[in-house]
Amino acid sequence: MAELDAEAGVVPGRTCGSCVACCGIMNFDASGFRKEAGVMCSHCSGSGCTIHETRPVTCRTFFCLWRRVGSMPEEMRPDRIGVMFSIEENPSPRNPFERAFVIARAVNSIADFDRPEVRGALNVFIEKGDLPVWLSFGQERRLLHPRPELRDAILSSAVPPEPLQAETVSWKRRLGLLA
Ligand code: SF4
Ligand code: SF4
Repeated sequence: MAELDAEAGVVPGRTCGSCVACCGIMNFDASGFRKEAGVMCSHCSGSGCTIHETRPVTCRTFFCLWRRVGSMPEEMRPDRIGVMFSIEENPSPRNPFERAFVIARAVNSIADFDRPEVRGALNVFIEKGDLPVWLSFGQERRLLHPRPELRDAILSSAVPPEPLQAETVSWKRRLGLLA
């Protein structure tokens, strides 16, 4: 039953297969299990988890967006496309854009952000617009959405320029910066 609950919201029938992207690029630090970002987990065989049956709850409950969004095609499995998308929350955000966000992490090369399929997925998340969108590679992280001038308006207490007003208010509401 615990396994079924852990897998709530994933695409039926879709499995990780030989992908181990999250076992390398993610930082896992919860419930007594710790693994640094960018360091392949010591339990990874290279094509799977050697402790799959007893893997930590952090791993049981983490699913990238390819596992959660059925409209992301098979070829966008993170090890195939080179980019892993996920939705994450940060309990200790340094700014409002880090509280809940979409993040695209390049697995091996920043050039994979330029793949048409990756650009297409990024555009979908940007057009949907509900959450900030980050790009990450190694230790580097860059906010892609909202765009810089809108970001500045959101963080400012000044009245934004007229063309940005509606978007600014909408973002401030979503980010909890307005009552
Ligand atoms: S990155 Fe996604 S598909 Fe790959 S192992 Fe992790 S959850 Fe599975
Ligand atoms: S314990 Fe297994 S599933 Fe979790 S990060 Fe390590 S190899 Fe991946």
